[in-house]
Amino acid sequence: MLRVDLRSLRPGGAALQTEGSLLPGDPAFEGLDLHLERPVSVRGALHAANRGTYVWDGEITTRVASECRRCLARIASEVDTEFRAILSSDPAIADDPGAYLLPEDSAVLDLGFVVREEIALTVPPFPLCREGCAGLCPHCGTDLNQETCQCAGTPEPR
Ligand SMILES: [Zn+2]
Ligand SMILES: [Zn+2]
Repeated sequence: MLRVDLRSLRPGGAALQTEGSLLPGDPAFEGLDLHLERPVSVRGALHAANRGTYVWDGEITTRVASECRRCLARIASEVDTEFRAILSSDPAIADDPGAYLLPEDSAVLDLGFVVREEIALTVPPFPLCREGCAGLCPHCGTDLNQETCQCAGTPEPR
């Protein structure tokens, strides 16, 4: 859990050190279409920029497994990403990319939702096992990276 008490932060005041680890089964990752192979470790510093606006600079490390979108081969990749998240209850600020809208007068916040988004942004939405992966034959399912099949040359069904 990465719970922070925003009331302890003042603009211009000391940053709050955030350090934690989220298990792959953490509810924050529910519905995320990727497989975390390790707990997600998070470290960072959160400070208040203005009233109702906070900046969280952090780093996420984990290992993610996904499937090649063409041949379904398993791909595992190390994730080690630095991010800057703006958290604000001001809708004007929260329109920026990389910003998160907070409920008005948020007091205690679980930063898991930010971690979820940052991981989702890091992992490519259509991962390929290699550039130019030939994929599976749409007719018989043969892995065309490994071998050719009888269907080769058959026009795509319309
Ligand atoms: Zn592939
Ligand atoms: Zn085939």
